[in-house]
Order: sequence, then structure tokens, then C-alpha cells
Amino acid sequence: MRILVVGAGIIGAALADRLTRPAPGGRPSSPDEVTLVEEHGPGAGTSGTSYAWLNANDPADPDYHRMRTAALSTWRELATEFGDPSWYRPTGNTTWASTDDARALLADRVARLTDLGYAAEPIDTDRLRELEPHVRAPQDALIAHYRDEGYVHGGSAARALTRRARESGAGIVTGHRAVRLNTEGGRVTGVRLDDGRDLDADLTICAAGRRSPALLATAGVPLALVDPSEPGSAAPCLVATTTAAPGVLNGLVHAPGLSARPAPDGGLVMEAEDLDAGVDESASPALMRAVGAELLARARALIPGLSADVAEVRRCVRPLPIDGYPLVGFQRPGLYTAVTHSGITLGPHLATLIDQELHEAPPPALAPYRPGRPSPTTRRHRREGRSATGAPPGPTDTAP
Ligand SMILES: Cc1cc2nc3c(=O)[nH]c(=O)nc-3n(C[C@H](O)[C@H](O)[C@H](O)COP(=O)(O)OP(=O)(O)OC[C@H]3O[C@@H](n4cnc5c(N)ncnc54)[C@H](O)[C@@H]3O)c2cc1C
Repeated sequence: MRILVVGAGIIGAALADRLTRPAPGGRPSSPDEVTLVEEHGPGAGTSGTSYAWLNANDPADPDYHRMRTAALSTWRELATEFGDPSWYRPTGNTTWASTDDARALLADRVARLTDLGYAAEPIDTDRLRELEPHVRAPQDALIAHYRDEGYVHGGSAARALTRRARESGAGIVTGHRAVRLNTEGGRVTGVRLDDGRDLDADLTICAAGRRSPALLATAGVPLALVDPSEPGSAAPCLVATTTAAPGVLNGLVHAPGLSARPAPDGGLVMEAEDLDAGVDESASPALMRAVGAELLARARALIPGLSADVAEVRRCVRPLPIDGYPLVGFQRPGLYTAVTHSGITLGPHLATLIDQELHEAPPPALAPYRPGRPSPTTRRHRREGRSATGAPPGPTDTAP
């Protein structure tokens, strides 16, 4: 089968890699001819700016939790294949709550996750000091640690997966945008590139992240993603990095008002959901500076003695399905879509499930996430499990 994957973010790169690797479980290898098309470079989209927390930290939907837990295992296996690369950081995640309501919510979350068999553990301040010696939490905080979570440097991971796909025989076309889907009698037959070339395929997989609705619309195919240009949209956000701050954090820390983790160059990556209110796609330089300064102030309160400065504030857009869940499956003959928030956590695992669907049978795990499901337009805005108030996120704003 000739397969064309549009987009070399974590989803498209993981797919191109999976589809060109030896088939898992001894299934006869498929003779697919895979081509990956990327407008800029691998990892240049959302995956390269993502906070990229690997987690299944939401017990609210046990099926979705199960899929995310499987996704964490898939990452572990992938990292082993790559020889434990520096872009995969299984560091654990520490969080705490310091108001009565937030403490009750966090205790409930830890209990429910533990019931589901997830590694979630209340810890005391001595243990916090061992895990994160430079971080200060209030004495009365309820602290939890999630040992099996971590993060990924999304851009590096997408590049490594693309490289391995190329080594395994995939064709990689970078620097060209797919400007439209080509169709013939209702069947998608490939794409037209911005230089006028047509790339033909038996199956075109749209993995263009936030840009997917625009590409799909060229064949009249809808996709239920949050529109980043809508006033008050939850899709646009700001992420800041700091200058070098070596060793101040070992893993992810989700404190009230600040999410932070180490950046690849030795600084920190920081974000806070409350500061994204009012941020739109064209956030002004003044707003970006103000958000960067506030994030740094919060980081200095979290890590006394932190001397780093803001290095960069980036505008990002989440590919956020309206109901928060992945959009994965055939949309037309010859056309498959794979778009999701939480794509860093889910990418390699979705690639495995899609490979299974294309070469064996539709995996039951994908059944709830088909793009044509009855109510993908019911707003839930599920996002990563971060909260500025200190309350662990509730089921409506937490972690896909
Ligand atoms: C601030 C922020 C925090 C996040 N936090 C987390 C988190 O903690 N954990 C988590 O798991 N997820 C998180 N996410 C979500 C996650 O980053 C995304 O779900 C994931 O990166 C999406 O990957 P993707 O491959 O679908 O999209 P992208 O990485 O955007 O890749 C799509 C690629 O397609 C290319 N492209 C687009 N259109 C075309 C075209 N027409 N022709 C050719 N190429 C095209 C783009 O250039 C791009 O490289 C976060 C996102 C943001 C913005």
C-alpha cells in the first residue's frame, strides 16, 4: 500500500516510523511504501513547543485512562529501542495542594488513580526534598508523586522518529505544504504540494495537527477541533523558557500557579493555565513579556535562589478536539485522520493502534475516538492536568 502521511509532528513521525518498522508480534511485514510530507521540518509545529508531560493522570474516564497508561508503556518500549535517548525523560511528577478544597480533590485523585493500579503516592516534605531539593512547598501542603510520569523533548523525539523512518525506507519530503487533498469519485487519492506536484497514495493520513481542518476542508471533510481564532478559545496559549538553571528541577513539578520542568538546554519550561485566559493567536509582544515575567516570578517563589531569566515566550496552539478526545479513523475512502490533544503522550501508542487497524483489524481501543462519533462537538475542553488555583484539575480541564 502507498501511504502518505501529512505532518511530521509527533503523530506523523511516530506513524511513519511505526509503518516502516518490522511488524510487531511476528505478523508478516507489510510492504508499505510510506512518504512523509512536512511543510517546515520534523517537530517544527506544536510538538516542538509543547509542555510535553507524559501522563495518565486523570481517573475520570477509565477507558481513556487505560489507553494513556498503555501509551506510557509504549514510550518506555520506544525509548529502550532508541537506547534511552536524552529526549525521553521518565523523571516522575510531583504536585501539591494547599487549600482545603484542593487537598480534598488531590487526595481523591490519588485514591482513584491508586484503585486503577496507577503509581500515585502521597509523600511528605522530607521525600519532596529528596526528589526536588531546590523546591519549596508550604508546610501544610498535601504532596503527591507520580513515579511513572515524565516528559519528552517533543521536537527532538519527532526528529529522531523521522530519521529512523527514513532509515527504514520512508520517503521524507520537507519544505513543502500539502495545499489540498486530491479526490477522484469520492476517494482521496493523495495531495497536491505547494510546488504543483501531485503525490498519489492509496491512503492519505492527515496528521497535520492544528492545521488539519484547513487541509481536510479542501475535500469538504469536517473536523471537530476548537477554533483558535474564536474569542476566548482554549487553544492558544503561551509557554516560556528560562536561561540556564542547571539542576534546579529533576522532574516535573505542578505547583499551584505554575507547571515547570527542565528544558533541553538546561533552563526551565514554564506555563500556567490561568495566564492563558485572554491569550489569542496574535498575543502582543507586551502581553507575552508580561506573562513571561509573571511565570518567572512564580518560578522564583517556587525555587528560592533561582537566578535564571526569561529566555523566550512562545505562542502555541493546541490541536484541541472540541470534546477533548482524540480524532482517529477513516473519514473518506483513502483518507484517515489522526489528530489529538495530548499527542505527545499518545503519539507512539496511537501509531501502534493505527498500524494494527491498517494491517489487521480495527482495535477496540480506538472505537470511542472516531472522528464521526455522534457528539465530538460537545465542549469539554479537556486539557492537561494543570491548575493555577492549586486544585488538582477536575474532569473537565484535565489531561488528555
Ligand atoms: C502549550 C502546550 C502544552 C501541551 N502539553 C502537553 C502535555 O503536557 N502532554 C501531552 O501529551 N501533550 C501536550 N500538548 C499537546 C501536544 O503537544 C500535541 O497534541 C501534539 O504535539 C500534536 O502533535 P501533532 O503531530 O498532531 O501536531 P504538530 O506537532 O503540530 O505537527 C503537525 C505537523 O504538520 C505540519 N503541517 C501542517 N499542515 C501541513 C500541510 N498542509 N502540509 C505539510 N505539512 C503540514 C506542521 O508543519 C507540523 O510540523 C500540549 C500542547 C501545547 C501547545
